[in-house]
Amino acid sequence: MQAYDVLHPRGALAGTTVMIRLHIHPDNTDSLFALAERISGDFDPGFFTVYLKEVGSYGGRRDGGYAVYGEQDLRLDEVKHRLAALLPGFARPDQPGQVAVCYAGKANAFTIRADGSIGKCTLALNSDYNRVGQLNPDGTLTLDAPKFGAWLHGLSTMDPADLGCPAHRVAQQAKRTARPRLAMAG
Ligand code: SF4
Repeated sequence: MQAYDVLHPRGALAGTTVMIRLHIHPDNTDSLFALAERISGDFDPGFFTVYLKEVGSYGGRRDGGYAVYGEQDLRLDEVKHRLAALLPGFARPDQPGQVAVCYAGKANAFTIRADGSIGKCTLALNSDYNRVGQLNPDGTLTLDAPKFGAWLHGLSTMDPADLGCPAHRVAQQAKRTARPRLAMAG
């Protein structure tokens, strides 16, 4: 919130919003309810929105080592319902019928890590191609333009695949550019 406190009074955040993404799994529901109460009490719903997303098993090394809700699990619906009730005004309405656009492919969406590094995709957290800049102590951003720009490819092609999951193309591109360097090192 330090950057918010600095930038908001200056009007530097006018016209922007921040989406807070809350990850849900069977072991964190109580802490999420407490967090939702704090967000509702302390945050401005005109600036912050909340996106509820269940943790899933996406094929990583730790799959199976932590609890997740199944797709049809009614308990997940109940948790989401309770969280939505605790967060009036913060929920983003679903927009059926529109082309799915991942936030990672939007120019104004950033993932801020605990160390201040900036990414785009919330799955490829340990991939270098997903490290596109740094949040500075004064609230400004330093971005690596070529790495950041690679995530926005879908905005020029309007290809649903690029818009829906830009990570696929960015990962492929990173592999292609990494190969010559590896060949030279060997
Ligand atoms: S870029 Fe793809 S993998 Fe990453 S958050 Fe978006 S949809 Fe998920």
